[in-house]
Amino acid sequence: MQTVGILTLQGDYDKHAQVLRKRNVDTRSVRYPDDLLNCDALIIPGGESTTMSKLMDHIGIRDEILTFAQTHPVMGTCAGMILMANRGGDSRVKPLGLLDITIVRNAYGRQVDSFVEEIEFKTQFGVEVIKGVFIRAPKIKSIGGNVEVLAELYNEPVFVRQGLHMATSFHPELSNSCAIHDLLISMIWEPVLAE
Ligand code: GLN
Repeated sequence: MQTVGILTLQGDYDKHAQVLRKRNVDTRSVRYPDDLLNCDALIIPGGESTTMSKLMDHIGIRDEILTFAQTHPVMGTCAGMILMANRGGDSRVKPLGLLDITIVRNAYGRQVDSFVEEIEFKTQFGVEVIKGVFIRAPKIKSIGGNVEVLAELYNEPVFVRQGLHMATSFHPELSNSCAIHDLLISMIWEPVLAE
């Protein structure tokens, strides 16, 4: 059985575990470096990127995540995407640099400006439409040449993939679809195809 680690430093990590359980995938809480052992993929959830960045360094798990990411898929949602970016322009967040994207935090507005929009994207399983929940979501301001845009909203990327890694501005774990988690799971099965 495949095991997906979920970074449980802060944020809505339990919602991801609930989606994965629907798919009969084992989950593991990742809080300390050793927790990554025996994980096949990692999810960095939404929450507060400044706090998660600080905790990552406080606990000392940053280097292990970077090493893990060389050979395993990592998916970030919302704050998780901010942490996976190359550039963010906020000195309180030290990003992991797993995706060649530039991020602007909270660019869709504040908590009260949260919204839900249908997001359409294509996978090897066909065209999927999921409910995209945007909560103080980041915008992707620019992407590098190796970054694939899997979905857009208002002509701006909101779901991107680069090699083994992918990220969403929104919260797929809050929709009732497993489509994005399915894509992550499929990247465990076929890491060789994922560049
Ligand atoms: N605005 C948050 C941040 O900058 C992200 C919000 C979220 O994950 N829903 O970290």
